[in-house]
Amino acid sequence: MSVGRVFVAVTMPDEARHAVAHHLSEVDSPVPGRPVPPENWHITLRFIGKTESVPYEKMLGLLDQADLGSPFRLRLGSLGAFPGPKRASVLWVGTETGSAELCDLAAFIEEIVDDAGFMPEERPFHPHLTLARIRPHLDVTAYVESVPPVPASWDVSDIVVYRSHWGRGPARYEELERFELT
Ligand code: ATP
Ligand code: MG
Repeated sequence: MSVGRVFVAVTMPDEARHAVAHHLSEVDSPVPGRPVPPENWHITLRFIGKTESVPYEKMLGLLDQADLGSPFRLRLGSLGAFPGPKRASVLWVGTETGSAELCDLAAFIEEIVDDAGFMPEERPFHPHLTLARIRPHLDVTAYVESVPPVPASWDVSDIVVYRSHWGRGPARYEELERFELT
């Protein structure tokens, strides 16, 4: 049986969403491209994609038994873009504090996901919060340089397994499971 399109992410409190939205609203130019709505903002730790219930349940069991480490402070930072600001398709905010912890978490989840039977992720992990998707690619250098570091921080005390639903407009993320950092 199919579980759907699944990913594991760090979510954020509403105050941090408001802080980011307010910060961006103070910039002279609008966010380029197709902005992600604030309620959808998150930091993906592992995108799994379409999954079947057997490896999915195995992954949940492993996550449930795992020691995911201690809660940590996350602070957002400067803007950037994939594959680069000169030819951007994804505009993001990076992390100023907590990057190492996010990388450790992502590496740990990668092991669990591989043990559960999913294909390994080949691409290196780069912690980021996607602000906008840009089609066709644009040069966002001036925009990225015009935005001061984003003053938003919060404590990360759990990770969330989401299912994403597509339709018209932005994706909708459904929380399936939550695992505490202790
Ligand atoms: P949409 O695709 O409709 O724009 P979305 O990208 O937010 O919406 P998903 O494609 O389900 O929804 O992706 C969920 C999360 O996983 C997002 O953070 C997305 O950037 C990330 N993601 C999607 N595909 C990949 C991939 N192949 N590798 C790494 N991360 C991915
Ligand atoms: Mg997508």
